Amino acid sequence: MSYLPVKRLFSAPSDEEVEARGWIYRARSSGAIVFLVLRDSTGIIQVTVKKGNLPDQEFEAARGVTVESSVMVRGRLFDDKRAPGGKEMRASGFTVVGSAQTFPITEYQSEELLLDHRHLWIRSREQTAVMKIKAAAMAGARDWLKENDFTEVTPPVLTTNACEGGTTLFKLKYFDRDAYLSQSAQMYLEALIFSLDRVYSITPSFRAEKSRTTRHLTEYWHLELEEAWVDYRGNMDIQEQMVSAMVEGVLKNAGEELAVVRKDIEPLKAIVPPFKRVTYSQAVDMLNGQGYELGWGCDLGAPEERALTAEETVPVFVTNYPKECKAFYMKEDADDPRTYACADLLAPSGFGEIIGGSERETDLNKLVARMQEQDICMEPYEWYLDLRRYGSVPHSGFGLGVERVVKFICGLEHIRDAVPFPRTVSRVYP
Ligand code: ATP
Ligand code: MG
Repeated sequence: MSYLPVKRLFSAPSDEEVEARGWIYRARSSGAIVFLVLRDSTGIIQVTVKKGNLPDQEFEAARGVTVESSVMVRGRLFDDKRAPGGKEMRASGFTVVGSAQTFPITEYQSEELLLDHRHLWIRSREQTAVMKIKAAAMAGARDWLKENDFTEVTPPVLTTNACEGGTTLFKLKYFDRDAYLSQSAQMYLEALIFSLDRVYSITPSFRAEKSRTTRHLTEYWHLELEEAWVDYRGNMDIQEQMVSAMVEGVLKNAGEELAVVRKDIEPLKAIVPPFKRVTYSQAVDMLNGQGYELGWGCDLGAPEERALTAEETVPVFVTNYPKECKAFYMKEDADDPRTYACADLLAPSGFGEIIGGSERETDLNKLVARMQEQDICMEPYEWYLDLRRYGSVPHSGFGLGVERVVKFICGLEHIRDAVPFPRTVSRVYP
């Protein structure tokens, strides 16, 4: 007899003895009966252990068992209206595998204590649900990408170029030279489209973000995509389909987990193409209409993004940012050369940015001129400029913050709860 996951116990026939394995979620005893709740990755179930139904030694083990001890229980399933899920397991065998000392996490702990004990806190039902939702969202993306002929690739994480700007770079000693932890795989993906046309990668990105916000980590999972022969509008079509597939994957495969983390899942069902599209200039006008005093050329920060999407039910693309707001590698928009052919995707209900994307500049002279204007050292980018020298093609791509999307889908207050071991300016342990 092998063991059954907790979820499967609820449909096990009552005349058959089955085994379950997991951790003690709650324990209480009264005389000759011990009431336990057993937890595993699939759920919780009530277990009653009655003296006389199993060897005395095993009954004593159950009576003394502590919360978070790992155990193996044998028994049969019976209907019980008062038990969670309507069933309880009556034990005929009980073994403690790993006894737990007094668990340091009890109800109502401070956020700091929970973060110090993150390696234990990730056992909680909320954290378990978020991790499953994240896996479902990533699987939704991968499935969509596979169906649409994107090849998953593995770019490096150690690099010499500073893709998104020098101020948030983690620098390290690479033997006798300097190197950096990657902030983005974009440039490597651009190199890979010449052999693979359509590529994506899911890697950690590192940003030495010093500001404490609820949407920045110093290490996050970055889903980046690059496609040949596509302009920035086609790039937006891809984004809205892929993001919708991520949400759909969660609704389909992690519905129960969603119910653990949020009250209302209806708003997620509205995340289907087409998403809304506005230009930066229109966005500035809308904001100024609401009392902001933004000049053309100001970047949009979190408060502006919140105001722009507060009343929206679908994500919003903000296109054509002024060049001064964005990175040098973006393509100048032929229709409005003050701007780039780019778009940020903002999630609805005031959430803000989940994707940054653009068409890439293919004109070697324009790229070099911009880099010179911005005092960017050319040497680490020579290989990147080669991509424009040897058979360049129009191409576009984007970067999606996986934890931003998970934060949005789960309705989390802080991005750190979208990753099991968060890294922020103040935390790199455990
Ligand atoms: P922000 O303005 O929010 O700092 P950004 O413009 O720096 O974002 P990009 O460089 O375009 O972001 O990165 C692509 C995506 O990666 C963003 O849309 C976001 O989803 C995610 N991202 C960026 N920085 C972080 C971070 N520090 N922690 C988590 N996700 C991030
Ligand atoms: Mg940033």
